[in-house]
Amino acid sequence: MDDETIKDMTDINSEISYLKPVQLTPGVHRITANNSGPMTGPGTNCYIVGTQKIAVIDPGPLLDEHVNCVLDNFGERIEWVIVTHTHRDHSPAAAELVAQTGAKMVGNEIANDGFQDPTFENATPLLNDDTIETDTRVIRAILTPGHVSNHVCFLIEEDELLMTGDHMMEGSTVVIVPPAGSMKKYIHSLERLLAYDFKYVAPGHGTVIVEPKREIERLIAHRLGRESKVIDKLGTSGSSTISKLTPLVYDDVDPSLHEWASLSLHAHLIKLQEEKFVQERNGCWQLREKEDI
Ligand SMILES: [Zn+2]
Repeated sequence: MDDETIKDMTDINSEISYLKPVQLTPGVHRITANNSGPMTGPGTNCYIVGTQKIAVIDPGPLLDEHVNCVLDNFGERIEWVIVTHTHRDHSPAAAELVAQTGAKMVGNEIANDGFQDPTFENATPLLNDDTIETDTRVIRAILTPGHVSNHVCFLIEEDELLMTGDHMMEGSTVVIVPPAGSMKKYIHSLERLLAYDFKYVAPGHGTVIVEPKREIERLIAHRLGRESKVIDKLGTSGSSTISKLTPLVYDDVDPSLHEWASLSLHAHLIKLQEEKFVQERNGCWQLREKEDI
C-alpha cells in the first residue's frame, strides 16, 4: 500500500464540512448541504462517485450554493443523478442537476403522501442488484424499503462502502412514517444488509460509520426493544390513543421530538397489528385478547 492510498483511506473519517467536496476514498467524494436540523443532523450528504464518468447520489435540497458547488466541481462529468428516496431533504436538487448537465435521473418514484418531493419524476427505476458503472467504481443497488417504500441503499464494492440514505443515520434514529414507511419492512431490510460485504457506512446524515454490522445489530435490537415497550405500556394502560401512548413509550426521548416519535409509534403498532399482537378500534389501540388470536 503506498503512502497516498494510506492517506486516502484515513480520509474516510473526515469531518462534515459544507460547500466543499471531501474525498472519502479515491473514487468517492461527499458534499454536505447546509440544511442542518433535528431531522437532518448536520445536513444532507450528497455523494459523488467516479472521477470522469460520475454519479451523484442524493443531490440534496435545492439550495443554490450547494447545487453550484456540485456543478462547479463535477458538472460536465455527471452522467447519473441517483436518489436513495424522494424525501424533500434528498432529491429536490436532482431536477436542477439533470437540467444543467443532461445526466440521467435514476431512482424509484412513489405516490406523494405529503412528505415526498413532487419534482422528482421521469426517473429510471432501480431493481435489486442493478448496477451503475462509473469510470472507477461500480454502484450496486440494494432495495431497502422501510423508512419509505422506495428507499434504496448503494454498495460501492471496491471501497467496501455502503451508502444508506436514511436507512441508517449517524447519531439519530430514523423516523418511519406510515403508510409509505413500514417498521416491519425496515427491520427486515436491516437484517438483509447483514448478508452483504462492507466495512463502512456512508449515511445520508452524519459522518462515516465504522463497524457498521455491529451498528445494524444495535439498531435492530433498539427497534425490537421499543416494540417490547409498546406492548408493556399497552398492558398497563389498557386501550390508548397514539397521542396518549407516545410520552409513555418515548419517555427517554426529548418531548420536542414526540410529534415525530408518534409517527414511528404508529409504524410499530401497525407491525404489531399485522403480527396479531394488538388491535385498533376507533383510533384506540389495545393488546389483542387471547381468544381473539
Ligand atoms: Zn434525510
